[in-house]
Amino acid sequence: MTFSELGLSAALVKAVQELAYKNPYPIQVAAIPATLQGKDVLGIAQTGSGKTAAYVLPLLETLQNKPINKSRSIPILILVPTRELAAQVLEVIQTFNTSIQRKAKSVAVYGGVSINPQMMKLNGTDILVATPGRLLDLLSKNAISLSQLETLVLDEADKVLNLGFKEEVDEILSRLPSKRQNILFSATMEDSVLTLIDKLLENPFKIEI
Ligand code: AMP
Repeated sequence: MTFSELGLSAALVKAVQELAYKNPYPIQVAAIPATLQGKDVLGIAQTGSGKTAAYVLPLLETLQNKPINKSRSIPILILVPTRELAAQVLEVIQTFNTSIQRKAKSVAVYGGVSINPQMMKLNGTDILVATPGRLLDLLSKNAISLSQLETLVLDEADKVLNLGFKEEVDEILSRLPSKRQNILFSATMEDSVLTLIDKLLENPFKIEI
């Protein structure tokens, strides 16, 4: 199986080749076509499985046909448990971004640093990578809107819940439009994750690695 057979355009195939990715990992073989089709996706996968590229590549592909965002509405939100993961995901997006024509404006926001510099770079963001608490702070300051959200990714959902962010996640979900694509990755399927899956995902395409 090759990346182009998964439905990625030449520019993104070139980007993965430049990173010396020879062939897609199993999670990518499964998740990329389903995500491109707009389905909800449930991935049970550990760090190291290639899960980040599994959701980032199809999201960047879909963005190729979209006009430049000039508003404070966020079309793609990636919710992560920690600042470290936010920074890593942003780096993956930016690496692939260099090869594509329609660049994705991507921004990472997380707590523990002052909010003002983050607020100043948010306008026109295509992909927001965020930890739950800081995302709610930014919403309460009207720095962004999630009312036009098209795709929600919840990465490391078990860790998000284990860090005590359940209420924040519920509050964030209540701000999203009901028609949207949902993608959830978790290393485990503990009860709290199952409850979230039931609430969040509609007839998802399931992948277990
Ligand atoms: P992740 O599970 O997303 O944290 O990715 C784990 C590591 O695998 C990262 O260092 C990626 O750069 C690398 N990686 C992801 N997909 C591939 C691939 N198809 N071929 C080779 N390396 C990959």
